[in-house]
This record gives sequence, C-alpha cells and structure tokens, in this order.
Amino acid sequence: MNCQRCSDWFIKKLGRCHACMFQTGLLFFLSAASWYYLDKPNSVEAIAAMFFAVASGSLFLLHILVWLVRHLTNKS
Ligand SMILES: [Zn+2]
Repeated sequence: MNCQRCSDWFIKKLGRCHACMFQTGLLFFLSAASWYYLDKPNSVEAIAAMFFAVASGSLFLLHILVWLVRHLTNKS
C-alpha cells in the first residue's frame, strides 16, 4: 500500500508510520465486523471476509509487535 507520509519499503515502515498502522487497524476492524455480521458462516462472502480479516489482522499485529519492540528497546 502506498502512503503519502512514508515512501519506505514495506518492511522498513512496519511499526513506524502511524498513518499506515491506523489504516491497517481500520481495515481489520471493518473486515472483522463485516464477517461477524454476515449471517451464513459457510457462504462465499463470509469466507472471503474471514480471509481478509485474517490477512489484515496479521498485518496489524505485525505493526503492533514491531512498534512494541521498538518502544521497549528504546526506553530501556
Ligand atoms: Zn505510511
């Protein structure tokens, strides 16, 4: 994903750009909410929403983990 604040490569901006972290968090919550509110859990739409939620959630988790590690190692 391209961002106007950071033009770094994907790995370099993990946990650094707050705009990107906010975007991935928003994506995860939107996809998780859409998966939760779809009625049939076995329908194609629900499975697609679940895959999207897992992918964006893992990216968000990666952002949070790198941010946590950076902040914990900087403070001590
Ligand atoms: Zn960014």
